[in-house]
Amino acid sequence: MESKKLGRRKFLNTGLITVGSLCAGTSQASIQASRVEWNETVDVVVLGCGGAGLMAACQAHDAKAKVAIFDAGKSPYHTATSLCGGVFTACGSRLQKSDPEGQKDSWQQFAEDIMAYGNYMSLKEPVYCFAKNSGLAYDWLEANGLAKHYLEPYLGHSRLRAHRQASFSGRDYVDVLVKQIALRDLKIRHGMPLNKFIFDPETNTVLGVRCGKNGNFVNVRATKGVVMATGGFTGTVESLERWVPNVAGKGVAIGGACNDGTALMIAVRDLGVPLSHMQYIASYPCGVVTNGRNGPYCRYWFVTNNGGLLLNKNGQRFVSEKEGICHITPLLAFQPDGCHYVFTDSAGWERTMKKIQVGALIGIPAWPASRVEKEFKLQKNLWKCDTLEELCEKSGMNLQNLREQIKTWNQAVESGNDTQFGRTDQKWKIGEGPYYMVRMATWNNLSCGGVRVNEDLQVLGWDMKPIQHLYAAGETIAGVHGAYYCGGNACGFAHTSGFVAGRNVVKA
Ligand SMILES: Cc1cc2nc3c(=O)[nH]c(=O)nc-3n(C[C@H](O)[C@H](O)[C@H](O)COP(=O)(O)OP(=O)(O)OC[C@H]3O[C@@H](n4cnc5c(N)ncnc54)[C@H](O)[C@@H]3O)c2cc1C
Repeated sequence: MESKKLGRRKFLNTGLITVGSLCAGTSQASIQASRVEWNETVDVVVLGCGGAGLMAACQAHDAKAKVAIFDAGKSPYHTATSLCGGVFTACGSRLQKSDPEGQKDSWQQFAEDIMAYGNYMSLKEPVYCFAKNSGLAYDWLEANGLAKHYLEPYLGHSRLRAHRQASFSGRDYVDVLVKQIALRDLKIRHGMPLNKFIFDPETNTVLGVRCGKNGNFVNVRATKGVVMATGGFTGTVESLERWVPNVAGKGVAIGGACNDGTALMIAVRDLGVPLSHMQYIASYPCGVVTNGRNGPYCRYWFVTNNGGLLLNKNGQRFVSEKEGICHITPLLAFQPDGCHYVFTDSAGWERTMKKIQVGALIGIPAWPASRVEKEFKLQKNLWKCDTLEELCEKSGMNLQNLREQIKTWNQAVESGNDTQFGRTDQKWKIGEGPYYMVRMATWNNLSCGGVRVNEDLQVLGWDMKPIQHLYAAGETIAGVHGAYYCGGNACGFAHTSGFVAGRNVVKA
């Protein structure tokens, strides 16, 4: 008994690298261990410098922890958070509470909306954590200089909780966090990816990490714990298609430059944690594929909210334009060429342009007005044509069906009865040209799978019990969105989970 105790104390002073603990049931005998020379000791190690990681680092620092941040990439501006379209859903923020409509929200309603949208495939632990803490996290960002936001109704959210800014850009969050990191004198060590978790299987505790590459490694001991905030896996076509085979060869793949899921696979290898929900991604039905697997997305809902229609190549509606965005995506597989089109007339285009700038309509990355004009002239993905005949000739859409569809739609506007898809809000008939149309395929921009956590954001091991001293935050967590991601919940979740994990890790 005594020798076992002594052995463990000695071990905790030096550490142990486990190699090969691949899956549930791995026997202790199969784990090869070697002693670790610690190069540094801190209280908390944060892996990743997106919204989740930087938020966690600030919170842990403010709770008096000594924090080290390691990142695979080159800059917080090369992350998914920076690329993001900027919608942040939150319940209970000061901004939401100041609005009579916003006051109707509750964390329970928020959680229910997330789970219903995701076909009840969400895991309630991260969902509850998000719904309960999102207002606090948003308020923290606001108090620390976040650009002015307003509340925007958003498809899939039954209450007013989408916090939006004029820039439509995640850079606003990164700006705040980069400034706060500098004020705290914290350094981000770039080009230092996670290489290993240093783990004591006997106590089920993460002791630290090895980070680095190309012969430049550091073993860092984390006395309080490690926050894994290494993002998702849509950053490379290879990692996206590894987990989601049905998007192979199609649409746009976009994500933080280093987000290839390697850290998740290291967690499987070193800790034996299970990964979950890996086949689910946010796939928007609005990628404008312009260059291989690249291209911006079209916020088509600004067009459809102003009288535009969603059509397939046959010139026919195939869904209610009011349907949740990610719920439309699976239907694309059944449309000719796997794509669809947003279509409007001259008056509809004018109404749309009063609501959104053209560079935000075709955004992420935003096209300036000059590029949009150029693409209209190219007539490959964007068309502006005086007549329906010309539009169909140039785009290949079926003219006869399109004429029929317009007639049916205009009757639906007149009678108030959309016999095709049951809409009740149609106000504008399709009238005179020029007609505007944008072709859209899938836009695969965030993954919904990763490690499982409890409500405190401790990572769960193979036996669904928390691994000691290991927390996760952001897109690296499985299951918050379930089968479908609802807009704003990923940016909101990244910052909120970072906020919670950064506070909890120091309590260890
Ligand atoms: C184009 C685009 C638009 C989006 N728009 C929205 C939106 O409008 N609203 C919304 O809610 N969500 C949106 N999202 C999703 C949302 O932005 C992300 O889910 C969220 O920002 C993820 O934050 P994160 O901190 O978890 O990951 P990231 O911000 O990607 O940060 C991950 C960090 O981990 C680092 N890293 C990766 N691998 C390793 C490793 N092995 N070792 C060490 N470090 C590593 C990366 O370099 C990076 O610093 C969008 C995503 C994209 C790509």
